[in-house]
Amino acid sequence: MAYPHLLAPLDLGFTQLKNRVLMGSMHTGLEEEKNGFDKLAQFYKERAEGGVGMIVTGGVAPNFRGRLTPGACQLSFPWQVAKHRKMTDVVHQAGAKICLQILHSGRYGYHPFSVSASDIKSPISPFKPRAMSLRQIKKTVKDYAASALLARKAGYDGVEVMGSEGYLINQFICTHSNQRQDEYGGSLENRCRFALDIINAIRAKVGTEFIIIFRLSMLDLIEKGSTWDEVVQLAKWLEEAGVTIINTGIGWHEARIPTIVTSVPRAAFAWVTEKLKKEVSIPLIATNRINTPDIAENIIASGQADMVSMARPFLAEPQFVNKAANNEAHLINTCIGCNQACLDHTFSLKRATCLVNPRACYETELNFGQTPRPKRIAVMGAGPAGMAFSVYAAKRGHDVVLYEAKSEVGGQFNFARQVPGKEEFDETIRYFLNQIELANVDLRLNTRLTPDIIEKEQFDEVVIAAGVIPRALDLPGFDDAKVVNYQQVLNKEVEIGNKVALIGAGGIGFDMAHYLAEQHSSTIDPQQWYKQWGIDTQYQHAGGLMPAEQHQPEREITLMQRKSSKMGKGLGKTSGWVHRSVLKQHQVNMLTGVSYIKFDEQGLHIEIEGKPQLLEVDNVVLCAGQESNREWVDAMQKTGLPVHLIGGVDVAAELDAKRAIRQGAILASEI
Ligand code: NAP
Ligand code: SF4
Repeated sequence: MAYPHLLAPLDLGFTQLKNRVLMGSMHTGLEEEKNGFDKLAQFYKERAEGGVGMIVTGGVAPNFRGRLTPGACQLSFPWQVAKHRKMTDVVHQAGAKICLQILHSGRYGYHPFSVSASDIKSPISPFKPRAMSLRQIKKTVKDYAASALLARKAGYDGVEVMGSEGYLINQFICTHSNQRQDEYGGSLENRCRFALDIINAIRAKVGTEFIIIFRLSMLDLIEKGSTWDEVVQLAKWLEEAGVTIINTGIGWHEARIPTIVTSVPRAAFAWVTEKLKKEVSIPLIATNRINTPDIAENIIASGQADMVSMARPFLAEPQFVNKAANNEAHLINTCIGCNQACLDHTFSLKRATCLVNPRACYETELNFGQTPRPKRIAVMGAGPAGMAFSVYAAKRGHDVVLYEAKSEVGGQFNFARQVPGKEEFDETIRYFLNQIELANVDLRLNTRLTPDIIEKEQFDEVVIAAGVIPRALDLPGFDDAKVVNYQQVLNKEVEIGNKVALIGAGGIGFDMAHYLAEQHSSTIDPQQWYKQWGIDTQYQHAGGLMPAEQHQPEREITLMQRKSSKMGKGLGKTSGWVHRSVLKQHQVNMLTGVSYIKFDEQGLHIEIEGKPQLLEVDNVVLCAGQESNREWVDAMQKTGLPVHLIGGVDVAAELDAKRAIRQGAILASEI
């Protein structure tokens, strides 16, 4: 049997889970959309049918003040039960279990009504919370219990009480945000009282045969976070209070240590859950950057945890568990941890989806049914857009021939995957290559699509996904061999010296600076990664923090842009800060408001605020954006066939894989 530990049932006494896979809580944005629960039901149904053992919903507030945003989802009234039934029914029909996550945002609430243990503003919300009165605390405890009871009425198998990531309960637990003088502040017992009152109140309302998961912050990663002894004590109290399962929470949202982005090593925090395994006897769930069945199996088999939680991997691949069970792990669409279409959307109040799976959260809207009129379609370019189009169109029954002038598929992903911390991009190339074979796409490598081929092969339509070319700059001395573009560097066509200036500070400028600064990726060396970020794996300091290891830069790098705005402003909302921190660690010099003058034997001449400066560099690397590769568009249009442009060849300025894959998928669904 494949993955015998991961796929073994878990006995909870009064009920059994069919396997050890939890689909962790994710807010999709459908919760707040008109008729969103119908779409959400289909979203969960497909994951339940995909074999997941248990699902935890996105966070639902127990009362108005607990909402993350004013329009966010809340479960407090009997009339709200019916819409939840839509989800619980379909999940149960598919043989899985589902729990409602109850989340009170506390001081993370993005509205003026937010409350917390004390009136201390968080660094990630503009709103200062009011300190809760004793009456408010008691009422909030009742609100949690009322939500849990309504959840039971709605058919949920249990609730997950969100006690981590810096939300309200966590705000009570740590002195970082709790400076109360009453029975809810001061000693550990007092700071944990709120959490335990909530569990006791819920248990009293829902009875013994109802799952209560507590998401416990096992590693706060903030100053004045919990010590290890405090984490253990609270876990024991939670067990005594009747919690069924403890889930792992890692890092407050305001922590300045990455916990889930792609550069975090896989399963980087499973050691924390393992540490708690020795202290309690109820099942524990490991979380964070677990994205393949092998990693998950290893965690269970080695006894680090009893279950694994994966959230984003189920956006990327609804059939994750079934594919694992059928020995088809190589066909899994792996979450690459980019956050670009999920968390970045959520934090911009947009519906979440997935960069590598544009159907995620669009299950009722984006479908690939059999075409009544199969066509013979030529696709130029096997980058993300061309691959996505080809696979989805071929699955619909079209006869697709995919031409790639290079010897490998992947396009821009072949550059991205070389950047330290972006090793996951390999998985997407692997996934699409396997899908190309499975869908019978006729892949022709080392072959450029030409009008002659179009005529000879009798195509009906042409899709151009030829991508982009790096922008060249026409400035004095820029024809020197020492001035190169990022593709030449990543193709290893040129030797780069120790002093380098990078022109352009978009995603690629940041990536190039990281690539030139870090010879060995810390993502594939977890011990180095913990040191780099100051994570105390011995857990001798509160919050699990210790001073980060100072880095000796291997190169002197200057990253520049013409704008005077903040560097990296256009990077991902939830990952940009990580890129900026990494470059600071590598002591990359960042210059804004730069005018580029010329390059000569002295180096690069620039001006900032009208003042000339000389950067004595060995090389200049151009990361100054892209232009669409339209070389073949005219010729293709002259063939008289319908021609479609997708990806970077359509809009270079917005070149990004999320848009490229989505555009390919949408065209495939319509063609
Ligand atoms: P970009 O984000 O458009 O950045 C281009 C940079 O070049 C900017 O700093 C721009 O800033 C500068 N520039 C533009 N025209 C210039 C000119 N004529 N002369 C000098 N400088 C010029 O493009 P990119 O960095 O190539 O990235 C392309 C896309 O790839 C991104 O939009 C992103 O979606 C994707 N990507 C994302 C990531 C990520 O981390 N999420 C990583 C890699 C790529 P100034 O105009 O201020 O000089
Ligand atoms: Fe994973 Fe990126 Fe998809 Fe989010 S958008 S689920 S991080 S692959």
